Amino acid sequence: MEEILHMNGGVGETSYATNSLLQRTVISMVKPILEESILELYGTLLPECLNVADLGCSTGPNTLLVISEILESIEAASQKSNLKLPLFQVFLNDLPGNDFNTVFRSLPGFCKKLEEERGSKLEPCFIAGVPGSFYGRLFHNKSLHFVHSSYALMWLSEPPKALVIKPEALNKGNICIAKTSTPAVFKAYYEQFNRDFSMFLKSRGEEVVPGGRMMLTTMGNLRSDDPLTIWEFVGLKLNDMVLEGLIEEKSLDSFNLSYYAPTAEEVKKVIEDEGSFTLERLETFMVDWDTYISKADCSLDTEERAAILATDMRAVGEPILSSQFGESIMDDLFMRFKRDVFGYMEAHECKFINLVISLTRKT
Ligand code: SAH
Repeated sequence: MEEILHMNGGVGETSYATNSLLQRTVISMVKPILEESILELYGTLLPECLNVADLGCSTGPNTLLVISEILESIEAASQKSNLKLPLFQVFLNDLPGNDFNTVFRSLPGFCKKLEEERGSKLEPCFIAGVPGSFYGRLFHNKSLHFVHSSYALMWLSEPPKALVIKPEALNKGNICIAKTSTPAVFKAYYEQFNRDFSMFLKSRGEEVVPGGRMMLTTMGNLRSDDPLTIWEFVGLKLNDMVLEGLIEEKSLDSFNLSYYAPTAEEVKKVIEDEGSFTLERLETFMVDWDTYISKADCSLDTEERAAILATDMRAVGEPILSSQFGESIMDDLFMRFKRDVFGYMEAHECKFINLVISLTRKT
């Protein structure tokens, strides 16, 4: 999974860089919580150089937006607390398959733009890339003051083991937890999430200084036995293609996406059981699948909105789906997505559910 997963690279028409407005909207919506978290960090820690990590940074404008929002929050906190601005070091982490080159290439232009906007030279700001999985150690002991991650933790390190051993019998016709999944499937996915998220917290627990903060935004759920995920709809479209003989049934039945959107209660329990961090804040908020599109441009009709939603999902799902089903069916799959998504939205409750989790490393 960790060798295959990455968002579509580059800056072209199907790239994540060009098609990540949903994730950008979410980053902007949670900015007040980011500001609050950094201000509280300032109340307890005053390092000469503030070490920040963005985990699952991906590529494109969102990567840069996160850096500038953290920078702005640090400046605001320094002003409010009447303190000198610290030096600022950012580690951008993602899996090795991520298009780090596009990120690195955009950095000089990004720094120049920031300087122009504020009309002054930036304080020294050091930016580095850190390839590797956040479900293990990435940094040395007690070296980070602030950890940020947005829309990345719902990706598991691997599909649930129970489904890999007996995939066809257990989650037939589905690519993730779906309405027709059995309790055994819920359990297998929950156990994988529990293992992965515990490992994430344990690893960060060793890397974050006592009193250091973490702010994590991830896709979540309201009820663990009633998943509302857009991947379920992608699974339905793949099923249609099986029925038409375009995909082998075996290929669909043996595929399970390494994706789990936990409930707030599940997140809370793992944090408490693992024990390295104190939970400061846990919020759930929801948006309709197409809200972020109509907010950006209210003149778009349903067909145009469906086309954007399909392209955005493709930018995220194409590498992993094509590794199982082949690149040749991708145009057809996302054409079907575009054609049918609004009909599905009329018949079902279709929301992206987001969890924002703010944590402090225990002293
Ligand atoms: N934070 C960005 C990207 C979200 S896409 C934004 O909000 O726009 C999710 C990213 O998480 C992808 O780039 C994916 O490669 C990365 N990711 C998923 N699992 C990961 C893991 N185990 N370790 C590091 N990065 C991971």
